[in-house]
Amino acid sequence: MNLMTNSRLEAHRDHRREWQNFDYAYPVLSRRSKGISVGINLNPDKVCNFDCVYCEVNRKTPGKRSDISLTQITQEVEELLDLVENGLLYEANPFRDIPSHLRRLNDIAFSGDGEPTTCQEFPLVVQEITNLLKSRNDSKTKLILITDSSNLLAPHVINALEIMMANRGEVWLKLDAGTNEYYKEINRTHVPFEKILHNIERTSQRYPVTIQSLFLRWNGLIPTREEIDSFANHLQRFIRNGSQLQALQIYTVARPTPELNATALTLKELKLIEKWVLERVPSLPIEIYEGNA
Ligand code: SF4
Repeated sequence: MNLMTNSRLEAHRDHRREWQNFDYAYPVLSRRSKGISVGINLNPDKVCNFDCVYCEVNRKTPGKRSDISLTQITQEVEELLDLVENGLLYEANPFRDIPSHLRRLNDIAFSGDGEPTTCQEFPLVVQEITNLLKSRNDSKTKLILITDSSNLLAPHVINALEIMMANRGEVWLKLDAGTNEYYKEINRTHVPFEKILHNIERTSQRYPVTIQSLFLRWNGLIPTREEIDSFANHLQRFIRNGSQLQALQIYTVARPTPELNATALTLKELKLIEKWVLERVPSLPIEIYEGNA
């Protein structure tokens, strides 16, 4: 088990997807990236095809805009890359206090206030960012897609993934449940659970992927042993069918959410879930990320 406990830095707690007057790009200190991640919010309108009980996005206030400007995204990302490179980012809050070993750019992440793969311009943005990195002779920064796994087989997403995976791409796929009932309860979506499972299996047969699973206390209850067994059974089947699962990230609620009944699990509870998963998939590398509470 790899346990990520360095969670008390102000910058780790501050995951606002905004930077000054930018509409799309934002810097975060990411525990899972172990450094700076420049996010690109492909859903500035805050529209998502999931409605997870733990979602931090406050949808009671309107989004910034609903269009995608390739020119503006590229300009904003370039400005942030400059700020990381010349160190000026670390003179601004909340990045002042971060230790030197975390003062590194790890990735550019396609994420945001909704599901990035619902954006039809997604492959165009990936191509623009790839071109930008090439023009800066940057051969280190990763490109990460953080997705709810609902659209992985859509043609424009297949197209985007091909570009990403040829350019240090990583895919982080959400899977928060083992059964259809729990999935419906936690992710609150009309996308069928079977589709999510199929998408994950097919994509991970093609590319190495990271599964990211948020487990939480919901209405006072932690996921049951039966739920986690079903979850682990899916992972076991994926591996048996040729999936390349690089790692499982188990994390929990880290910041306040609009749903007050969605709260963090304790480290002991997260480790119990890890133990249950490992009983079925003992070879799977698991990383645990505690909440900040
Ligand atoms: S998929 Fe992500 S953005 Fe969409 S509701 Fe869930 S947590 Fe929020």
